[in-house]
Amino acid sequence: MISCEQARNICDKAQYDEAPLKDKIKLNLHLMWCKECSGYTRKNQALTSLCERAGLNSLSESEKEEMRKHLGQNNDL
Ligand SMILES: [Zn+2]
Repeated sequence: MISCEQARNICDKAQYDEAPLKDKIKLNLHLMWCKECSGYTRKNQALTSLCERAGLNSLSESEKEEMRKHLGQNNDL
């Protein structure tokens, strides 16, 4: 797990496409459970979408499914 500081650092790098793929994935995982950093990135919407695209596009279907499970309490409604 990465710290909030690291997450924001990666997000800043990802804006310029300088973050390694592994870091982008770590960032996205972090954003899933850290509301603080989610809020931080949401304030910078262009940055957020870049980070998300960078991370999500690089995930396999099974990894996306894994993410949905982490997110997905609402799926049972
Ligand atoms: Zn955080």
